[in-house]
Amino acid sequence: MDAKIADMTAENDTADCFVCRKHRDRAALMPGGPVAEDELVLVSHIVTPDALGRAGSTAYLGHLFVEPRRHAPGLADLTDAEARSVGLWSARASRALREVAGAEHVYAMVIGDGVPHLHVHLLPRFPGTPREYWWTRVDEWPMARRGGTAEIEELVRELRGHLTHGATTGSGIPDAR
Ligand SMILES: [Zn+2]
Repeated sequence: MDAKIADMTAENDTADCFVCRKHRDRAALMPGGPVAEDELVLVSHIVTPDALGRAGSTAYLGHLFVEPRRHAPGLADLTDAEARSVGLWSARASRALREVAGAEHVYAMVIGDGVPHLHVHLLPRFPGTPREYWWTRVDEWPMARRGGTAEIEELVRELRGHLTHGATTGSGIPDAR
């Protein structure tokens, strides 16, 4: 497929794209609102399954998504400016998870098998997580911190406050945008 056709396909996909819809509608699809956003990227917390019509009223606390606003399928499809912003917010959000939520480590992954709109997963690992639950099973540990919508909203408020007013300039670069 040449680039022009790929672009047209991407444009046509946005109406049905879950990530595009989430950015547009927010509300129940984005508990607590954006953790952070700029003109190119939006950071949000995962919803509870019941918000998507599935079973389950809690989610793993601190599971964030870093997404370009534009309907771009993967890392290879980003412009340089989008890539800088995705990297910058991945770093800042990870730092907020450490400093606000007490994460000892933050995993980052791109899967994209379900929705063809880039969403970088940031998954915090909290102290005490047994070794057998590290990496892909970190949110399956039965003792993991999970929360309903109210707890997610509270965490999002704290993360956003930290990113807005707190130490977001760990790099020493005031604003790399
Ligand atoms: Zn999309």
